[in-house]
Amino acid sequence: MSNIAIIGAGPGGLAAGLILLNQGHQVTIYEKDHRVGGRSKRLTFGPYHFDSGPTFFMYQPILREVFERANIDFDKYLQLTPLDPLYTLYFNEYTLKPSSDINQTKEVFESVYPGAGNDYVKWYQKQTTKFKRVMPILQKPFPNIFHFLRADVLKGAPVLHPFQSVYKYLSKLIHHDDLIHTLSFQAKYLGMASFEAPSVFTILPYLEHMGGLYHVEGGLNQVNETMAQLFIKNGGKLLLNTKVDRLWIEKRTVKGIITDQLHQSYDDVILNADFAYSMLSMTKDKEVKTYHHQKIKSMKYSVSAFMMYLGLDTIFDFDHHSVFFSKSYEGYLKRLMSESSDVSDMSFYMHNPSKIDKTLAPKGHSSLYILVPVPNLDANIDWKTEQETLKKQVYATILEKTGVDITKHIQMEQILTPQEWQDDFHVYKGAVFNLTHGFNQMLYKRPQNKFKQLKHLYLVGGGTHPGSGLPTIYQSAIITSQYLNTKKA
Ligand SMILES: Cc1cc2nc3c(=O)[nH]c(=O)nc-3n(C[C@H](O)[C@H](O)[C@H](O)COP(=O)(O)OP(=O)(O)OC[C@H]3O[C@@H](n4cnc5c(N)ncnc54)[C@H](O)[C@@H]3O)c2cc1C
Repeated sequence: MSNIAIIGAGPGGLAAGLILLNQGHQVTIYEKDHRVGGRSKRLTFGPYHFDSGPTFFMYQPILREVFERANIDFDKYLQLTPLDPLYTLYFNEYTLKPSSDINQTKEVFESVYPGAGNDYVKWYQKQTTKFKRVMPILQKPFPNIFHFLRADVLKGAPVLHPFQSVYKYLSKLIHHDDLIHTLSFQAKYLGMASFEAPSVFTILPYLEHMGGLYHVEGGLNQVNETMAQLFIKNGGKLLLNTKVDRLWIEKRTVKGIITDQLHQSYDDVILNADFAYSMLSMTKDKEVKTYHHQKIKSMKYSVSAFMMYLGLDTIFDFDHHSVFFSKSYEGYLKRLMSESSDVSDMSFYMHNPSKIDKTLAPKGHSSLYILVPVPNLDANIDWKTEQETLKKQVYATILEKTGVDITKHIQMEQILTPQEWQDDFHVYKGAVFNLTHGFNQMLYKRPQNKFKQLKHLYLVGGGTHPGSGLPTIYQSAIITSQYLNTKKA
């Protein structure tokens, strides 16, 4: 049994904590905030409640596996409501509503051009094969280049197409840009554009179409709240409002943590706080081989998110998830990736959970969340002035595409810009989806779960292997807990 400290009570830290307790370890989680969840925590403004970040919950088997490994009955604690349609997609000429029913989505595709339904089915079948081959690779550690010789990797190689982008791959199968966007906007979950994200990530829309999307009552933040309660119930120690200042490092070995100038000794430390932020603030420059400060600054980071949390005095009939595509989607993606300061004609996502969940706002009211993917803090954008432009644009687009003027119903409006993601959430550059997922920052090139550069340090969360997004974050917790499982022998 080891005495383990986890820095951060985000989804990765909480999942790791729960599993490690069941392995017999003594676990303490240090969380700087007054509540758990990190980028997935609950935000409350007056009587309105919101998820701060994640709202798309897909591929539930991994979260179920976390609960199983923690010896907890998933269904006793979490109720998931399936969503159908998956989302409404607002294009220039029409709206599309894909579903997790393959036949319904086939019809949706067929409505755009003759033969598109069959093209969709072919895409679906190819992704079924890809998914079966790719998942085993992502479920294991990938610490060095020799892992390319593993049987599962060799088997997966023919479907990986590592140098083809999501967009290029899809354009060979689907012959209309709106439908390509329907199966590629998910690259933004990784903070990337479809023409730069590696084609392996077409498994993201596949996970939605194959496995469906789910809502948890109270929002996805409630998964974290539930895990935190179970962590305490099972004997874990959760210290809120407790910021870790530094890693206690001696001779390339982590001895524990330093908080409030006190050295706390631990056998092992797990880092869940944002990787880049942590390396820059919790280690001295050049103290960590490979990830010295200059290297961290030169790595490639995802886009950020401009957030609007709105309390409304009515409940609109918008679907649970809606995506509003900009008039020139390609132009928008190019501006986004080139860190342009031009914030006109942006695409955005709208979340309307109050339609099915009455716990988020007072009776007859609703909590509406809008996320505009925007460049991270590397871009020269003055958010104090630009936020007004962006807000007006979002409200005007909703009016134009749905006929609804939501501005007449706003009781509460709270804005969060890339600057707050950095300052309040400790996310380096406000790059909320972490390091990008090009092949130069994936697999053995991504910071590893068992951190090679410092003994007794482990990583969980979006900045480590296998990657950003809740399913992979939970997977990182499973991998790290396997490393620390002394019972397995
Ligand atoms: C706007 C937005 C939308 C997203 N949408 C989705 C989605 O729909 N689906 C999906 O799968 N993923 C989504 N994600 C990505 C991802 O799932 C979340 O960002 C997730 O919360 C990341 O989890 P994590 O475990 O990596 O760490 P975090 O959530 O970042 O948690 C890290 C924790 O460490 C704490 N911490 C930081 N510094 C210290 C310190 N010095 N001492 C102690 N504690 C510290 C933080 O307070 C935080 O609680 C979204 C992210 C954002 C921001």
